[in-house]
Amino acid sequence: MRILVTGGAGFIGSHLIDRLMEQGHEVLCLDNFYTGHKRNILKWLDHPYFELIRHDITEPIRLEVDQVYHLACPASPVHYQFNPVKTIKTNVLGTLYMLGLAKRVQARFLLASTSEVYGDPDVHPQPEEYRGNVNCTGLRACYDEGKRVAETLAFEYYREHKVDIRVARIFNTYGPRMLENDGRVVSNFIVQALKGEPLTVYGDGSQTRSFCYVSDLVDGLMRLMNGEYIGPINIGNPGEYTILELAQKIQNMINPDAELVYKPLPEDDPKQRQPDITKAKTWLGWQPTVPLNEGLKLTIEDFKHRLGK
Ligand code: NAD
Ligand code: UDP
Repeated sequence: MRILVTGGAGFIGSHLIDRLMEQGHEVLCLDNFYTGHKRNILKWLDHPYFELIRHDITEPIRLEVDQVYHLACPASPVHYQFNPVKTIKTNVLGTLYMLGLAKRVQARFLLASTSEVYGDPDVHPQPEEYRGNVNCTGLRACYDEGKRVAETLAFEYYREHKVDIRVARIFNTYGPRMLENDGRVVSNFIVQALKGEPLTVYGDGSQTRSFCYVSDLVDGLMRLMNGEYIGPINIGNPGEYTILELAQKIQNMINPDAELVYKPLPEDDPKQRQPDITKAKTWLGWQPTVPLNEGLKLTIEDFKHRLGK
């Protein structure tokens, strides 16, 4: 198959491309390199079945493909809040153009949505039926509301134009190739511990997250794309940890003497997050297999290598 991956030079996109290339597909990687990097896809650049397209999805583009994995959008609060209007354009205009492309060539279209559509949830764990608690004027809204509109667009293209959609709600994912300056908690703590800097815990660290290793996530996305269930469907690891527990875990794995410092909690930071993955188990036969300790070990190795430690 010929498969388009938008955001393919990013963290999740590049791992997905590795799997698709290994399966023998022809892959088009489209990216504007805002948070993505050529080094993530370097090994495929000379491959005859691989094509790299530098393009910003807020502009239309014509391509002929069988499937579209639509991942292009900065995922870390630091990056999506840097230019919030651009984040909205990427989610709204970008998704609109990519759905238009899928409609024109009758490609199957998978949207990488997010657990952020649940906002600061007052239902725990979060099932897909939960409609969320998003502050539509807050600092995270450009991303949260952007993704909510992206889901709406996908479902309207499905109802009105019969586009063959799939919608994945991705929960916090980590692994090798996360950016060093990404600002997300796993990469921050690992980089800080490796550099001998204090680990920055926001708030009192009692807020929770559930961390999914990237290979598990990619497996879930591919099952969704190639199955019959449309979604929306949660894909994440239900293992739930407080941020303080995560800091202590990484501290113990890298440098037990590393200091913890407490910084103010960012605005609208969700207090708890844990996916209910009943649907993924039922419809995709999927559940995560990589325990947090093992995934962290692999991620730490990658950062050590990149930081020359
Ligand atoms: P990432 O920032 O590493 O990757 C995003 C990629 O999209 C980058 O390569 C970036 O350069 C590209 N991009 C951004 N704006 C673009 C534009 N306008 N035109 C073309 N390319 C553009 O992030 P990631 O963690 O790999 O996330 C991938 C997708 O998964 C995103 O849609 C994100 O919202 C979703 N997601 C990720 C997580 C997570 O924990 N990593 C959680 C929920 C949802
Ligand atoms: N966080 C933290 N220290 C950091 C970075 C993040 O304590 O250096 C916290 C952040 O406030 C949030 C959690 O870790 O409660 C996860 O943050 P991340 O940005 O990774 O993801 P998101 O908030 O989008 O789930």
